[in-house]
Amino acid sequence: MTALERISGNRPTWRNWAGNQWSVPDHLLRPTTETEIVDAVRLGNATDRIVKIVGAGHSFTDIACTNGVLLSLDDYDDIVRVDGNDVTVQAGIRIGALCRKLEEHGLALPNLGDIDVQSVAGAISTGTHGTGLEYQSIAAAVVGLRLVTADGGVAVCSETERPDLLHVARVGLGALGLISEVTLRCEPAFNLHAVEKATSVAKLLPRLDELIRSNEHFEFFWLPYTEAVLTKSNNRTDQPSTGGEQRRRLEQELLENVGFGALNMVARRAPALIPKLATALPGSGVTEYVTRSADVFTSPRRVRFLESEYAVPLDAFEEVFTRLRRLVDTLPAPVSFPVECRFLGADDIPLSMASGRASAFIAIHTAIGMPHEGYMASFEQIVDDVGGRPHWGKLHRKTEVELVDLYPEFDLFRDWRDELDPDRRWQNPYLARVLGD
Ligand SMILES: Cc1cc2nc3c(=O)[nH]c(=O)nc-3n(C[C@H](O)[C@H](O)[C@H](O)COP(=O)(O)OP(=O)(O)OC[C@H]3O[C@@H](n4cnc5c(N)ncnc54)[C@H](O)[C@@H]3O)c2cc1C
Repeated sequence: MTALERISGNRPTWRNWAGNQWSVPDHLLRPTTETEIVDAVRLGNATDRIVKIVGAGHSFTDIACTNGVLLSLDDYDDIVRVDGNDVTVQAGIRIGALCRKLEEHGLALPNLGDIDVQSVAGAISTGTHGTGLEYQSIAAAVVGLRLVTADGGVAVCSETERPDLLHVARVGLGALGLISEVTLRCEPAFNLHAVEKATSVAKLLPRLDELIRSNEHFEFFWLPYTEAVLTKSNNRTDQPSTGGEQRRRLEQELLENVGFGALNMVARRAPALIPKLATALPGSGVTEYVTRSADVFTSPRRVRFLESEYAVPLDAFEEVFTRLRRLVDTLPAPVSFPVECRFLGADDIPLSMASGRASAFIAIHTAIGMPHEGYMASFEQIVDDVGGRPHWGKLHRKTEVELVDLYPEFDLFRDWRDELDPDRRWQNPYLARVLGD
């Protein structure tokens, strides 16, 4: 009996991390080889069912949902080969597991987002990113892909073989094919010198441009209803690890997990207290340490939330941030999560949020169970005025009609989609909305 057959047939419900999206697929399969992925595509074709792969289910949108054939690559998650700095992995490997294995080879990914639990294929498919004006999203490190195509074939692309396909498929939204293997260009492992500082909006904004240009990785969190800001600056260093990790974890637990967890409990029971309580959250002092890059870039997120994030042109950041601060004060339901602001260099990937322009990424969050539609809709109105592009994995209401004008190579992507998936074997309601039928 194959792994496919063992699991198919029952109809479990699949839910995403935030719990706001779910599917009841006819088949939920866990292939362990590329051949089994191809078998699943053939099963879909033979029974006229849509086939999707879900990674770690960490998208807030319904981008991975299907009631047809849903594949998990959790048992297809090994390193395939290491060739200098180029590392080829099976698509289901989680970022954290990959980082640990890379370390054994003296390698690391150049930049990461806030967490490390996503699958590599899921992360690149939505343009997952960290921060750093001289850096780009994780997908920019992709130099090779193996894609299972809608006809059950396998398309291989790299810098030398079908580079035009590689160009578009790095951020593919799951719309071009099922990624079987990913080759990532890594760099020698490095330590980061991390400085986390509490400051105020008034002190930060005049220095923001200097901070994002003088630090390799700079970001900040603004605490709604307060002037308080927590900045994070991470820079490469040859210094050894200081072992200051525990202290940092404590502060992080307090600010990013426990503090907001407590606030969110209050949010549900007595929302009117939030603005007052927010001012009591930790926000003083400086934490400084050196440790390996993956441990600085990422940290656990235990409090669940909903999120929307938009990328705006760098020079529009201050206008958007100022309007967002005003908006928060006028919302009927109080906000109990910080706003996260990051800054990323331009890349050339057609559906990357930073395609062709250096960008500021502004992310807003709400506690599960709290109203989020009004906040997110008003936020969208603000970013719409400056050509904001939504994160594909985070809540937004954009349709193809609006998106086509936001990306210079949107139609190039759609041409490839027509060529690779003419019968829409990978279609779901999300892809129909953002790419069209
Ligand atoms: C707590 C939390 C923190 C986050 N932090 C960040 C952050 O710092 N920066 C950021 O940019 N985003 C962040 N995100 C968003 C997250 O990184 C993206 O939504 C990412 O796509 C999730 O990866 P996943 O493995 O869960 O993919 P899923 O959400 O499961 O899938 C995403 C898409 O990838 C497709 N896919 C997955 N595997 C394959 C495959 N093998 N072949 C083809 N398509 C495939 C799916 O079909 C779907 O279209 C965060 C999300 C959460 C919940």
